[in-house]
Amino acid sequence: MTTLRSVKGMKDYLPKEVPAYRRIEEAFARVMQRSGFREMRTPIVEPTALFVRAIGEVTDVVEKEMYSFQHHDEALTLRPEGTAGVVRAYLQNNLGNDEPVTKVFYQGAMFRAERTQRGRYRQFHQLGAEVFGDPSPAADADLLATLVVFLREIGVSSPEVILGSIGGKATRAAFRESLVDFLTPKLETMSEESKRRILTNPLRILDSKHPGDRAACEGAPSILDVLDADDQTHFDALRRYLDALAVPYRVDRGLVRGLDYYSRTLFEIKGATEKLGAGDTLLGGGRYDGLVEELGGRATPAIGFAAGLERLVIATEENVAPPRIDVFVASLGEGAVARALALSNELRSHGISVECDGRGASIKAQLRRANAVDARFAIVLGDREVSDGVAELKDLAARTAAPFPLAEMAAAAKAGLLRPPADADQAVSS
Ligand code: AMP
Repeated sequence: MTTLRSVKGMKDYLPKEVPAYRRIEEAFARVMQRSGFREMRTPIVEPTALFVRAIGEVTDVVEKEMYSFQHHDEALTLRPEGTAGVVRAYLQNNLGNDEPVTKVFYQGAMFRAERTQRGRYRQFHQLGAEVFGDPSPAADADLLATLVVFLREIGVSSPEVILGSIGGKATRAAFRESLVDFLTPKLETMSEESKRRILTNPLRILDSKHPGDRAACEGAPSILDVLDADDQTHFDALRRYLDALAVPYRVDRGLVRGLDYYSRTLFEIKGATEKLGAGDTLLGGGRYDGLVEELGGRATPAIGFAAGLERLVIATEENVAPPRIDVFVASLGEGAVARALALSNELRSHGISVECDGRGASIKAQLRRANAVDARFAIVLGDREVSDGVAELKDLAARTAAPFPLAEMAAAAKAGLLRPPADADQAVSS
């Protein structure tokens, strides 16, 4: 029989890898909460129509990358990103009624049928956040400053914000015209897809990786040159705030992003190119002032971002020590196993992590395991120890052993005597 393998582009996160992921997830929750965001969770499966309306029909994600399926009479899709679901949930649960400004963050699996490479998978995880109800450039600056703090806190040493603006509706309409005028004479050399998109969604062509499209876009007008007065005021104020906050950024005159819902502020943060190669964008986001209304709500300004968790792990590449086992209980004999199980659970109730070996293997084999799981202490229990009420307590780090009355174990655990020193299970840098 052939053995089954995971779906292409969907990887396993093994016990030795997970601490690095958890470290970043926990830092993210901590930093976002410190900036006034609260966590929310939305379903992994949503109606296909939600993504088509939110992300845009003529985008790579919707045209090529979604895992969509029919279930009875419902057209459903595994979420390719988080914002659409959060906006749907914001509207469905009237979150905007409680507070004029709603700030949420989320973490979870996303699915895109992309060509896989290092840092690009078909199931990946995003850490993201959204701010609803605040149109001010101060909200943009505050979010970016928070992101830079987060990245520094997890060990991305020099995060640089790449900043752009895609303008509001009026700016985009004007830009679209000048872009079409610029690209039309070069249609011959462009990809079939872009020939089609020049009619349906010309801005997407700026995003294309096709060499012909890239050449055609060389020297294309920048939307930054045609921002209308309000968009320009917003952009200038954001830059002033970022300067005042000493957030490192550079303006990219050609920045466009792959989803249609953005307006005004756009940003990306790249990092660790040497480890990530071409896919070195750690996070991306921007303002989407029209999306809430587009999805049926009242006009509500909003801004958000999403970071790729796998890329953050590769970029920071920290060797995070797995959580240690405090006590390993080795036991031999029917009565001893029963007593070992009870003792283990008692110690655990005092917050001690305990591995209890009831396999019936030799004590030598059990102690080999105690070393393999990096336990600090081992307690050896045989039937004689149970009847005497005294077990052997081994300090595996100090390589010492001493008899220890079973009746005093719980009190010792409570007093913290069966714990490694506080700094022993901290992350260690590679
Ligand atoms: P996007 O939602 O396309 O703006 O992407 C936001 C971030 O999610 C990117 O900067 C990446 O870090 C991450 N990301 C997007 N697609 C993938 C993927 N297929 N695999 C891993 N990370 C991804």
